[in-house]
Amino acid sequence: MITYKNHSEKLQKLLSGELSLEENVKYFLSEIEKKKNLNSFNFVLEESALEQAQKVSEKIRNNNYGKLAGMVVAIKDVLALKDKPLTCSSKILKNFVSLYTATAVQKLIDEDAVIIGKTNCDEFAMGSSNENSAFGPALNPVDTTRVPGGSSGGSAVAVAANLCDVALGTDTGGSIRQPAAFCGVYGLKPTYSRVSRYGLTAFASSFDSIGPFAHNVEDASKVLEVISGKDEKDSTSVDIPVPSFSSDIKTLEKKLRIGVPKEYFGEGLNQEIKDAIGAVIEKLKNSGFEIVDISLPHNEYTIATYYILTTAEASSNLARYDGARYGFRSDNSSTLLDMYMNSRSEGFGKEVKRRIMLGTYVLSAGYYDAYYRKAQKVRRLIKNDFDKAFEQVDVIMGPTTPSLPFKLGEKSEDPLEMYLGDIYTTSANLAGIPGINIPIANSAEGLPIGLQILAKQFNEAELLKMSYFIEQELLNK
Ligand code: GLN
Repeated sequence: MITYKNHSEKLQKLLSGELSLEENVKYFLSEIEKKKNLNSFNFVLEESALEQAQKVSEKIRNNNYGKLAGMVVAIKDVLALKDKPLTCSSKILKNFVSLYTATAVQKLIDEDAVIIGKTNCDEFAMGSSNENSAFGPALNPVDTTRVPGGSSGGSAVAVAANLCDVALGTDTGGSIRQPAAFCGVYGLKPTYSRVSRYGLTAFASSFDSIGPFAHNVEDASKVLEVISGKDEKDSTSVDIPVPSFSSDIKTLEKKLRIGVPKEYFGEGLNQEIKDAIGAVIEKLKNSGFEIVDISLPHNEYTIATYYILTTAEASSNLARYDGARYGFRSDNSSTLLDMYMNSRSEGFGKEVKRRIMLGTYVLSAGYYDAYYRKAQKVRRLIKNDFDKAFEQVDVIMGPTTPSLPFKLGEKSEDPLEMYLGDIYTTSANLAGIPGINIPIANSAEGLPIGLQILAKQFNEAELLKMSYFIEQELLNK
């Protein structure tokens, strides 16, 4: 097996002929088969991946290749790929085949990446453990008795277990960063609207963002660079220049000011995680960075605000699955209304139903002002906290998760306990800012620990430079 440390090195080896892309794809396919027990893929796209590999090899031989030539990518099964299944790990879309390709995925293909499969996740991206999947849970490759995190669990596993080079996930409240932390890989959530959501099955439209899981900062930066940008098919995608993230990462011009929010180190944080984050911050201080104590006073309201607003949006987004237009239809019905009700009752899983009910409740005439409208106001306060913090500092650091990866089944009967695990991640989605997980250490038991870095809206460039510095100067030494 020929190894490479990142995509740039892989491309060199493909160009020199030392590495064959077809062999490389076959290697990943055999690894996926060997590690089937991890249940990280809903669908392996063997035929189309090998076909694309052949095409790309030809382009490489003709010296006419794209930026991501030969990068083998897995995509979360909430992202559309034409003529391939799109299930969102649900029963209701079990037999649904997509008619078109998501913009982010198309951009990868246009730059000559190879799509190897569609990864497992929580149903409609709702969850933190990948246990809410109609395909069964994905397992954490570090310890298969533990969850890989969620909702993009399969994508995190696919990277961590070396089943592909990079994977795409989606992050509505932490679903890229948290599984990245649990599996020990890099996971980047871009600024809201940086990447087109066209072809991403909506969960909470004002929160959802697509981003990469990777083995290193450079690969994550390359992918972001390719998938970003204005898209006419998504009117919320923003029309601002996309920096060349991957070439910029090596140029940290100034010593950034690092904010450390006191609210991120309070009660409920695992001691080993706390110590590991503290150690990194100490090292950064010794390297000359200015460490600033900051406060995000509305942090304690993030979980409540997040779960009110996202369930409201989800209840509306998921109204389209009525048994008539997509996927599953119950055949136990005699009237149209029965058909709607039975298709939804039989087709949706427990967590999705819980959220539709919660969302419908907070949007109902009698409770709209008390919950939904109030939560919108608090969302603004949370955003203001960040705006204020970023007047003082360039990036914010803290833990990605309050706990280490937990055991399968440990929290699945207690939704509230599960929701509380999102304490450090949901705020970035409420504020629309970018964030990254960096795998910084292992616990005494060998479980991964993640550092989260947050930056101002559209400041992925500094976020990635800081991440690269940590990767190269603190971790690779
Ligand atoms: N764990 C969070 C939730 O269950 C985040 C999900 C996500 O980001 N898609 O809603």
